[in-house]
Amino acid sequence: MHQLTLAEIARGLADKKFSSEELTRALLARIHQLDPQINSFISVTDELAISQARAADARRAAGESGALLGAPIGHKDLFCTQGIRTSCASKMLDNFKAPYDATVVSKLAEAGTVTLGKTNMDEFAMGSANESSYYGPVKNPWNFEHVPGGSSGGSAAAVAARLLPAATATDTGGSIRQPAALTSLTGLKPTYGRVSRWGMIAYASSLDQAGPLARTAEDCALLLQGMAGFDAKDSTSIDEPVPDYSASLNASLEGLRIGLPKEYFGAGLDPRIADLVQASVKELEKLGAVVKEISLPNMQHAIPAYYVIAPAEASSNLSRFDGVRFGYRCENPVDLTDLYKRSRGEGFGAEVQRRIMVGAYALSAGYYDAYYLQAQKIRRLIKNDFMAAFNDVDVILGPTTPNLAWKIGAKNNDPVAEYLEDVYTITANLAGLPGLSMPAGFVDSLPVGVQLLAPYFHEGRLLNVAHRYQQVTDWHTRAPNGF
Ligand code: GLN
Repeated sequence: MHQLTLAEIARGLADKKFSSEELTRALLARIHQLDPQINSFISVTDELAISQARAADARRAAGESGALLGAPIGHKDLFCTQGIRTSCASKMLDNFKAPYDATVVSKLAEAGTVTLGKTNMDEFAMGSANESSYYGPVKNPWNFEHVPGGSSGGSAAAVAARLLPAATATDTGGSIRQPAALTSLTGLKPTYGRVSRWGMIAYASSLDQAGPLARTAEDCALLLQGMAGFDAKDSTSIDEPVPDYSASLNASLEGLRIGLPKEYFGAGLDPRIADLVQASVKELEKLGAVVKEISLPNMQHAIPAYYVIAPAEASSNLSRFDGVRFGYRCENPVDLTDLYKRSRGEGFGAEVQRRIMVGAYALSAGYYDAYYLQAQKIRRLIKNDFMAAFNDVDVILGPTTPNLAWKIGAKNNDPVAEYLEDVYTITANLAGLPGLSMPAGFVDSLPVGVQLLAPYFHEGRLLNVAHRYQQVTDWHTRAPNGF
């Protein structure tokens, strides 16, 4: 049963082959048996899951239908879940039970999903390896010595290990697409504003966006359908109708114009990954797509701009964790300053503290113009590059990551080496564009992903291209050994 995709589960439930409660119990047993090796969950919510599964079965018995009714999923542990620990993988929030559900969580619950648990992640979503979690690193099910990517490494590892058919995740600079690539999954970062950020613990508010992680594009379409839509509680949510993402999955790719940015294939890219990306292009050409070289000339400035903007926003967002209202509080503070200092010093991990310091520095009087303002200008140039490129092409294709999943610990002494892994993903966040990563093969038994980018609100086009590709390839059907 654990090999079923969301789409297959929907059919099985509709045909009464099994109930949601049976499926939920089977997956919970699998999580308890297998997850100790992977560490992909921070909390497993058995009781909630069983009660939601029973409720979904009752709704079906009463005649309701729906692709997500009774579907088991997991939520990244930065989505607030009422009455359930919402830790953001930080000691700071280890004791925090959210008083309400995030909009994504409540929308999916209304659609009938069953929450099996909260998944592990990098602390406050800062990282590309899932090594900065207070609850310990997540292991890649394809090879336990390697990282699963981050920051949504727990969601990715759980889905790759077939503990769950799909999970929610968030992407500030690549945290859905990069772990998808490193664990052989399909992951979609929607257009900024497509999915409500209300109840998502903020990292960098102008970049954060929630989306689905699943094995297939078809499943991402189902999960995105349940997540997307206007929310008056999020002032950056966009009031645009949500298209039927499943309806366009099979559209023809005849004449689809694919742009290959020459900057994506330069120095720094593992040539074995480049070969697999080119092979995926050949498949899409066979389906009728036409390929064109394009240029995104400001891409080289993306990492420095992102690593000013994201920490700047983080330093502001994380100022609320002060030991006063919620979260960790140090023992026996002597005065208010001591309370702030020690609560934050003891509650936040090293990477989070580094980002807060970098961000506060970049925003301080005297440096604001030199760093933050410059970074914002680069951001606009990057957006302009994309706008120019999308005059000539329908999608942009390239590698999701420059390298394979690295060994746990390999980059621990060099944060910048880890930042460089985000080179292909962060531009979409800076511009607010939708992006998808899909499985495209293996090198040394480790997965490789291909990234597709599209104009604003063309998530359906990304899912369509990935779905057609997945009908002529089988990378997405392969499971790691033992899972
Ligand atoms: N690796 C990037 C960072 O650490 C992106 C993380 C994310 O998308 N949440 O900022």
